[in-house]
Amino acid sequence: MTATHAHLAAPGHWIDGGFTEDVHARIEVVSPVTGSVVATVPSGTAADVDRAVAAARAALPGWAGTPTSTRAKTLARLAQELTARNEQIAQAITAEIGAPIGFARMAQAGLPAAVAAATAELEPSVEWAERAGDSLIVREPVGVVGAITPWNFPLQQTMTKIAPALLAGNTIVFKPAELAPLTAAILAGAIAAAGIPAGVFNVVYGSGAVVGEAIAAHPGIDMLSFTGSTAVGKRVSVLAAQNVKRVGLELGGKSANIILDGADLEHAVAETLVNSWSNSGQACGAWTRLLVPADRHDEIVTRLAEAAAAYTVGDPADESVRLGPLASQKQWERVNAYIEQGIAEGATLAYGGPGRIPGLESGAYIRPTIFANVAPDSTIAQEEIFGPVLSVIPYTTEDEAIEIANSTIYGLNAAVFGAPEDALRVAHRLQVGQVYLNGAGLNMLAPFGGYKQSGNGREFGRHGVEEFTEVKAIQLGETAPAAGQGPL
Ligand code: NAD
Repeated sequence: MTATHAHLAAPGHWIDGGFTEDVHARIEVVSPVTGSVVATVPSGTAADVDRAVAAARAALPGWAGTPTSTRAKTLARLAQELTARNEQIAQAITAEIGAPIGFARMAQAGLPAAVAAATAELEPSVEWAERAGDSLIVREPVGVVGAITPWNFPLQQTMTKIAPALLAGNTIVFKPAELAPLTAAILAGAIAAAGIPAGVFNVVYGSGAVVGEAIAAHPGIDMLSFTGSTAVGKRVSVLAAQNVKRVGLELGGKSANIILDGADLEHAVAETLVNSWSNSGQACGAWTRLLVPADRHDEIVTRLAEAAAAYTVGDPADESVRLGPLASQKQWERVNAYIEQGIAEGATLAYGGPGRIPGLESGAYIRPTIFANVAPDSTIAQEEIFGPVLSVIPYTTEDEAIEIANSTIYGLNAAVFGAPEDALRVAHRLQVGQVYLNGAGLNMLAPFGGYKQSGNGREFGRHGVEEFTEVKAIQLGETAPAAGQGPL
């Protein structure tokens, strides 16, 4: 273990407000830059999950009974605690997945604090209680929430569950990804410092096969909120059915980005590369398919290749670097195999390509790659690659562009560039949960989630909070309070 990161090791699982001591096995967290172990975390068992669930169940009545306004204030404090830990969080994520340090500070560490703050501000907009005829309809916490997250945005994917679940009054058992678990203990510290009571938030580290499955199947967990691959999302859904848990799934994507006639090409090309390649393309919502008018195809590919030259690859500790390594050697093998497959399937390699980068052979570095003239039904146009590989697909009519965009099993998000009325018309016809028009940015008040096999959940905004509530209708009948005396 290198001395610089040893402080990030978690001594135990975080259960009932403290680290457990009886840890029998540990997971090594490996740097994708050097291949060396940067820190270790515990490798848990089903018994550890049992203990975390018991702590979460014990803490539930107190937290569920805390006024929503108090819970919101606590979340606002959590945002401040996370902001105070920005550098520590960024350094941890750079160490474990190789995110460039500038991007790690801004997005990997900055966004989770912003999510906590934005969620706190949602409290007045949620209909915690409403009247319908003589019924009182109330939103209550679901109960104990199991949260399982991936490695690509380790803290951000966690906060988009934790913040709304906490605001809604739930308690939590959380399992981070094996590859990127180092921010879980930092988050636990921030949660304690924000004044959230012991047992409300618990962490059990471990593998998906052991700890993940124990959470998914646990009878003491009322809801499973899962972010990860579509394959594992299907597996956890089966396990969760044992006690008819509510399941919220945020799964894979293969997002289409459509350039229409009349688009500002310079702007579209710049936005395309940012949204295809940031985090080295390891993003569920990455715009990995670029659909372009056939008669503008060559011009757009030339512009893309010119703009791509600015995407320097190198040591993520170097502030000038745009792309670090992929998160692991295993991920490198996967992405490299897809690049080779693209060539084998006859797509035109317009930029980048397979193989190691000279001078960077020891890390999991891959060339950002652009394929041109990609067939819409080819493997690289259909499967989620999860690396910086952009497929440019020509189309001839708007109807054809929409048909291609909707032709994968996924439906997470999409982008459209063109005249505003044209872009909006196309957006309505796309089978996805979010559409970004002309480079519009992420809006934390708007729900994020997928159609089709990209999932069934929604995160962010009021809809994201409502996911973590049960709805109860109380038929007041003759007990209905007179006007002005009721709870509303
Ligand atoms: P993954 O599905 O392999 O793992 C995700 C989590 O599930 C990890 O914590 C893992 O340990 C756990 N897990 C694995 N097997 C399990 C099992 N049998 N039972 C219970 N838990 C299990 O995904 P990954 O490789 O970590 O992440 C990449 C995937 O996540 C991509 O498909 C990406 O699109 C998706 N993702 C989706 C979103 C979204 O919001 N839709 C966001 C980020 C990532």
